Amino acid sequence: MYKLNEIQDFKYITFPSFETFDNILHCFTTRKGGVSRGPFESMNIGIGTGDSSEDVKRNIEIMTDKININAADIVETQQTHTNNVMYVTERYKGRIYTHPAFKNVDGIYTDKRNLVLMTYHADCTPVFFYDPVKKVIGLAHAGWRGTLKNISGEMVKAFIKDFSCDPGDIIVAIGPSLCQSCFEVDKDVADMFLTENKDFKNYMEIKGIKYHFNLWEINRYLLMEKGIKEENIEISGLCTKCRNGLFFSHRGQKGKRGLMAGILMMR
Ligand SMILES: [Zn+2]
Repeated sequence: MYKLNEIQDFKYITFPSFETFDNILHCFTTRKGGVSRGPFESMNIGIGTGDSSEDVKRNIEIMTDKININAADIVETQQTHTNNVMYVTERYKGRIYTHPAFKNVDGIYTDKRNLVLMTYHADCTPVFFYDPVKKVIGLAHAGWRGTLKNISGEMVKAFIKDFSCDPGDIIVAIGPSLCQSCFEVDKDVADMFLTENKDFKNYMEIKGIKYHFNLWEINRYLLMEKGIKEENIEISGLCTKCRNGLFFSHRGQKGKRGLMAGILMMR
């Protein structure tokens, strides 16, 4: 499930399960409502994508203004398709226009209020976490490598270890990213999945010489394995490649694309 929100040209996705909490601000941006051109048209929030940095800066200003957050409160990470998650605090804020304070981390979490967790995406799955009892939020960039290495499970483990969270309390949303039909791989990658976890074959289809895995359902399976309740997992069902008019898609645009943001903050 998802909700498509529009403020003039600016469009963004929210999740009904997260909207029930007044103290949570969250969204997944689309490519709509910015100033960038060409393959970056128009709401590209990724510096270093080959786009004009002036345009990206303007996009970040527009985006933060529309959803009412401060760019100076954002904490992001240099994502490298790992399954590493990291606890973050205020000291990592305010680096959006420069470089993230750390790298080789693809999931960030916090119990701090007014700290905006942000991840970058163009096909790779965003996974949003919230424990309304212990008041902890987390956000993960779970591309196929991160999914394969179970970054979703690592986030749940970190919540339990650091905050004694009960996984039965945690709600999760899996945002816009590649659908099963669009996540097409060759045998070498299929073998990596099946070697990692034989149950992944339940989420695999073979079409000719190509293999297709359902990354949304694999993440759901991995989350439930860690104790997350099925009814507490929401999948947007939106594919970034099928809906390339609304989203940037790395595969759909052959690598020439902007980046969208996952955003999560606790008030
Ligand atoms: Zn698709």
